[in-house]
Order: sequence, then structure tokens, then C-alpha cells
Amino acid sequence: MLIRLIAAHPALFVDGLPPFTSTLPEGWYAIAHTLCCSIEDRLTREQLAICSVARITASLGKLDFTMMGIYPKAIDLLIDGAGLLSRVTCQECGERPARFRGSKVNRTLCNFCELERCIRENRAWAPKH
Ligand SMILES: [Zn+2]
Repeated sequence: MLIRLIAAHPALFVDGLPPFTSTLPEGWYAIAHTLCCSIEDRLTREQLAICSVARITASLGKLDFTMMGIYPKAIDLLIDGAGLLSRVTCQECGERPARFRGSKVNRTLCNFCELERCIRENRAWAPKH
């Protein structure tokens, strides 16, 4: 998903990749894509030349999107909004509502994806015959 986002928004990524280790869960692609579109809409070509995406990660069930360089404060509000939206959006399938499933799971999941995860883990934990 990260490669797809970079391909769609090359002006926001210097040298084709964020300089810090990044990952984008599939379910949050739409949030990140909309955020990148909004950032591109609000910045001039000159402003885009002096800032870029530093890192994208999933941190404690939230999309963590970090910019570096010089950019208007309004961009931080867009990033904050995307982070809040990610807290109620399933990071696996993109459905809402979803909720953070705790630090052990460390994921924001809808009920369906949470159920699937539990089934998968129960199978993994089943004794072998
Ligand atoms: Zn889901």
C-alpha cells in the first residue's frame, strides 16, 4: 500500500521513499491518500519543494503521518484529522466503526476482522494430533 501511495503522490516523497521506516496498513490507504491529496491541494509548487513525508506508520492503533521541512501549520490540522479518523477505521479492511484492540494486539480493527484474527490465532494455538 505504501508503494501505491508514493506512486500516486511523487511530489510528497523525496527520492521515492520516506527517509524513516514506513508502513501503511491496507485499510488506511484511503485515509492516507485523501490526506496526501489535501496536502497537495493546499501547498504551492514552491512549498512542495521544501517539505516531504518523513514517515508513515501505524502507532498504537493510529495512523502516524509525519512531515519534514517547512510547511504551513494548517497541514498539521489535516494530519491530526487523518489520525483521528484512523482511530475508528479498521486498518485491515477500511470499515467503520472500528476500535483499538489494546496494546497486546496493537491494532484498530472492526468486529469482523477482530473475529477473523481470533479464529486464526485459535487455530494456530490448537494442539497438533
Ligand atoms: Zn475490518
